[in-house]
Amino acid sequence: MSTLRFHAVKESLTHSPKEVWENDRRSNLFGKNVFNEQAMRQHLTKDAFDGVMNAIWHGKKIDRTIADQVASSMKDWALSKGVTHYTHWFQPLTGATAEKHDAFFETTSSGASIEKFGGSQLVQQEPDASSFPSGGIRNTFEARGYTAWDPTSPAFIYGTTLCIPTIFVAYTGEALDYKTPLLRALQAVDAAATDVCKYFDKNVRKVSSSLGWEQEYFLVDKALALSRPDITLTGRTLLGHSSAKGQQLDDHYFGSIPTRALSFMRELETECMLLGIPVKTRHNEVAPNQFELAPIFEEANLAVDHNSLLMDIMGRVASKHNFKVLMHEKPFAGINGSGKHNNWSLSTDTGVNLLAPGKTPMSNLQFLTFFVNTIKAVNEHEALLRAAIASASNDHRLGANEAPPAIMSVFIGEQLTKVLEELEGVTKGKLSPEEKTELKLNVVGKIPDVLLDNTDRNRTSPFAFTGNKFEFRAVGSTANCGNPMTVLNTIVAKQLKDFKAEVDKLIDNKGLKKDEAVFNVLREYIKSSKRILFEGNGYDQSWEKEAQKRGLSNNKTTPEALKSKITKETIALFEEMNVMSAIETKARYEIEVEAYIMHIQIESRVLGDIARNHVVPTAVKYQNVLIENVKGLKEIFDKKFTEVSKEQLNLIEEISGHIEGINANVTKMIEERKKANAMQDIEDKAHSYCFNVRSLFDQIRYHCDKLELLVDDELWPLTKYRELLFTR
Ligand code: ADP
Ligand code: MG
Repeated sequence: MSTLRFHAVKESLTHSPKEVWENDRRSNLFGKNVFNEQAMRQHLTKDAFDGVMNAIWHGKKIDRTIADQVASSMKDWALSKGVTHYTHWFQPLTGATAEKHDAFFETTSSGASIEKFGGSQLVQQEPDASSFPSGGIRNTFEARGYTAWDPTSPAFIYGTTLCIPTIFVAYTGEALDYKTPLLRALQAVDAAATDVCKYFDKNVRKVSSSLGWEQEYFLVDKALALSRPDITLTGRTLLGHSSAKGQQLDDHYFGSIPTRALSFMRELETECMLLGIPVKTRHNEVAPNQFELAPIFEEANLAVDHNSLLMDIMGRVASKHNFKVLMHEKPFAGINGSGKHNNWSLSTDTGVNLLAPGKTPMSNLQFLTFFVNTIKAVNEHEALLRAAIASASNDHRLGANEAPPAIMSVFIGEQLTKVLEELEGVTKGKLSPEEKTELKLNVVGKIPDVLLDNTDRNRTSPFAFTGNKFEFRAVGSTANCGNPMTVLNTIVAKQLKDFKAEVDKLIDNKGLKKDEAVFNVLREYIKSSKRILFEGNGYDQSWEKEAQKRGLSNNKTTPEALKSKITKETIALFEEMNVMSAIETKARYEIEVEAYIMHIQIESRVLGDIARNHVVPTAVKYQNVLIENVKGLKEIFDKKFTEVSKEQLNLIEEISGHIEGINANVTKMIEERKKANAMQDIEDKAHSYCFNVRSLFDQIRYHCDKLELLVDDELWPLTKYRELLFTR
């Protein structure tokens, strides 16, 4: 058991020596270590500033002289803050972030030393890419990949390093990271949504996608976490009997935050502020030692970067406070797991949130257009959306007995359900003037702008409309948001593109007015997307049956779910929207299937080790104590012996039963692993790991957990749930 002492935090991770963080106002700290618009205005020449802004807003290429100027100013700004190194910061498909630091320092031919950082270093780097997953795109012998500057996400200072957000691509151009396809998807949705907006407002030039994530996590005392090989190696407990007190009293949710956790949060938030991550809320979650942190939403690409960065910072700050952060979706059996809600919306450069009901019939028609198209997109691509959040760890939530279910559905609330019902009754073809007035005034015109406060909160829905945004709640807490955001924006882009084509056709060929055409197409969409709308309890068994009747997929495991990522339709979709080539789509699939296999393989090895080398020997030791005890009783009681030692004898037998249960299942698991490892086809292998290896975890755990209840507490080698969950 570790002591709960911790040291006052003196030094900040994001280097900025002079400030006294704890006492400064949050707003004064915000973005101090970011080369953001404000900093650029201050440090760049007008040409350089305009160049970067054009790249951000209009995707214009930055030429070399401008890049040189930006690099030079960036370097001076960074040096003035005590920075010594720079790195291209990227998000390879390992799920973590990657960086390789280079010093600004260089020597000249005359032997003098200077601080150097030019446009070429800013714009492109060539890290050795051979050790990052590539799904076969890039053979190791030609380990060529490069990182390229993403000017839409500002450079930041982390520690004493200037970090430059970059994309990571193979020399042949294929994406090797999360950011590249995301940027392409954001471009696709921008183009498609801007086109549709033009029906309503000719002034719209750009539509951006916004993301506000909510990150859930557990804090566990570091020493206690380190005492458990399963937490250390897999991020979760593979065994452990539930604590007498768990979350049944519901006394943690929104309760007062424990002091040590609060001190961690304060430092974390300070770091976030300095890095321009606009964290806003923090609170206890449902489970003991579970918390949530959420920022104000941002443009999606930036928000994805910020979430990746946050996960990294969290680990470091936690360590300083003698905590380990568990980001895993299900660190403890029987206790709520963690997710990462992705709040998503689209907004125009004219300042309109396209998913917020407006004040006029026209703006409401625009809202309904985007609202209904999103619903249709989810309906058409529900299986792909499920695949976008599939991972070995998220399987513990989706498809297990925990929210949200593996079935994708959309919740829209009572009021909007009514609106859609009325829209469904719209007359086909041209509308009479009366019908139009009726529609505009009484249906579209009446969408209340107080919707935001009135939206029912159905917590069991994986994809819920919450007043002015959709909330994708099934995303895993460990996930890189880039993956689900790429899929969501791509399917909506495709849907909007199709919508535009259909509306234009009605206008051009059938002579319908623009609003009539929009109404007509929306009506058909509402009719054909009904199966995805579900307002009931998503955890209920009856929903599974109902969903099956509706033809919705219900893929409970990652190997099954991932298959939708390489269907003909998916490949064609990503190609059409210029988000991923067929090669890229297939490579990603391969990487994810392989990651799944590795994950289960590691868990299986760790579980086998703990069960055999920790639990069984401990049980034997205790059994020997009992045997000695029984021998002693025999000496003392002689004839009455069987009577007085009945309980002990039972215990000895019971322990033997569990030891046998463990050994038999571990042996079987190892055999299954061997069989799986011999398989050449990765799909077969993943299937085997899922249904033959992983399926034995529960039985092994069952026997171990039973032994935990029988064996002397003093002998038990593993820190128990009660300490892990209630040490504060
Ligand atoms: P909760 O779901 O916990 O009740 P809220 O509904 O208050 O929380 O908001 C959750 C998140 O939604 C916040 O991170 C917020 O920034 C984000 N959010 C609000 N509006 C939008 C929007 N238009 N686009 C994307 N995210 C948004
Ligand atoms: Mg939420």
